[in-house]
Amino acid sequence: MHQAQVCILGGGLVGGVMALSLAHRGISSIVVDTETPDRLLAQNVDGRTTAVNLASSQFFEEIDLWQPLSGQAARIDNIKVYEANQPWSIQFDHQELGRDPMGYIVENRFIRQGIFAKALNHPLIKWCAPDKLLTKKIKASGVEIYLESGEMAEVSLIIGAEGRHSPTRDDRGIKKKQFTYSQKGLVFSLYHDKPHHNIAWEVFHASGPLAFLPMLDSVDGRHRSGVVWTLPETEADTWAQKDVSEVATRLVDMFPHLGEFELFTQIWCYPLIAQMVDRFIDDRYVIIGDAAHVCHPVAGQGVNVGWRDAKALTDILVNHLSLGLDLGSQTTLQTYQRSRRMDTYAMFAMTDLMVRLFSNDSKILSPLRSMGLGAVNKVSPLKKFFMKRAMGV
Ligand SMILES: Cc1cc2nc3c(=O)[nH]c(=O)nc-3n(C[C@H](O)[C@H](O)[C@H](O)COP(=O)(O)OP(=O)(O)OC[C@H]3O[C@@H](n4cnc5c(N)ncnc54)[C@H](O)[C@@H]3O)c2cc1C
Repeated sequence: MHQAQVCILGGGLVGGVMALSLAHRGISSIVVDTETPDRLLAQNVDGRTTAVNLASSQFFEEIDLWQPLSGQAARIDNIKVYEANQPWSIQFDHQELGRDPMGYIVENRFIRQGIFAKALNHPLIKWCAPDKLLTKKIKASGVEIYLESGEMAEVSLIIGAEGRHSPTRDDRGIKKKQFTYSQKGLVFSLYHDKPHHNIAWEVFHASGPLAFLPMLDSVDGRHRSGVVWTLPETEADTWAQKDVSEVATRLVDMFPHLGEFELFTQIWCYPLIAQMVDRFIDDRYVIIGDAAHVCHPVAGQGVNVGWRDAKALTDILVNHLSLGLDLGSQTTLQTYQRSRRMDTYAMFAMTDLMVRLFSNDSKILSPLRSMGLGAVNKVSPLKKFFMKRAMGV
């Protein structure tokens, strides 16, 4: 029987970083994913770019994950937000807080590549994929896990990082509350004529937000951005089927700041939901990342909150281990749960409010939005508060 201190179910963006963070502090893990690394890196699997906020990039530096990503990361120096057909706009300029950028845009495939490059050969990480938890036996001293491949292991704690549909979370009877927005996010990347000057744009349309995220120029010098175009479900399905040149033409009408567009990827279509659980822990079990909380991508923060889970859980496990405590004890898990409640609920509530406030053409809400956002732009402490939230600091 294999011995490891923890088992991580799900080796995605959060589970993979969890394993690296624990290994960096000397804690061994067995990572179980239903998909192989090759499959997760396949061109057609995940076309998203992620806004890695400043705090997450610093966490990656600590765990030696930033070095392989930094060459693929485009700085976000400025965030501009405005409502289509309205006079107000907000600008968050990184210089108001110092020299650091507000964050970076990195393609998900590069983050996954970075995780696999470090984790697959790490002496403290055993990566099992494709594989699946078949059953478990919880004992006073730990938990025995039995995998579909026949592999068995004894660990102190199971960390669930299986994403929003986590089956082990549901098996444990952890209840979730789901909000559907009846929206889907179309995701693709495109070339544009004009440089983006490292500005991330968020434009609120009544149909949903449209985000342009600055990417590094291509090797032949063409300017590039990642796009998340949120639309009501049926409209999204229609646009996802259209010819890419039609999509490009429509986007120039909606967003005239970067010149002509040319899509260079396929279009991915993600149903958008928000979800929150009633608890993060069970007997020798804790959930992190999207298994525990899903928020609308409007603020580009979902996985950053998951990485904060990974960092907090690492710190607590290392601390409790140094005190001679059992990693899977209720004391350890309760400490984790208390430390993460506020941040996860706050992000969930903030993004939910943003979507509900902006994804409509209400004549009553429109002046309130203008007033509120005009105020944020003018009141420096308020603006700095939002900037720090976006940077995760
Ligand atoms: C359109 C869109 C844009 C986004 N943009 C941003 C952004 O800019 N910034 C940001 O912070 N967030 C963003 N997000 C959110 C972000 O993508 C998610 O928060 C993130 O993917 C969650 O990672 P995760 O590892 O928790 O879950 P997942 O990415 O879902 O990974 C789960 C892993 O578990 C594996 N798995 C599933 N079931 C099992 C099982 N039974 N056993 C073992 N393994 C299993 C899967 O194969 C997968 O590898 C965006 C989301 C969307 C939809």
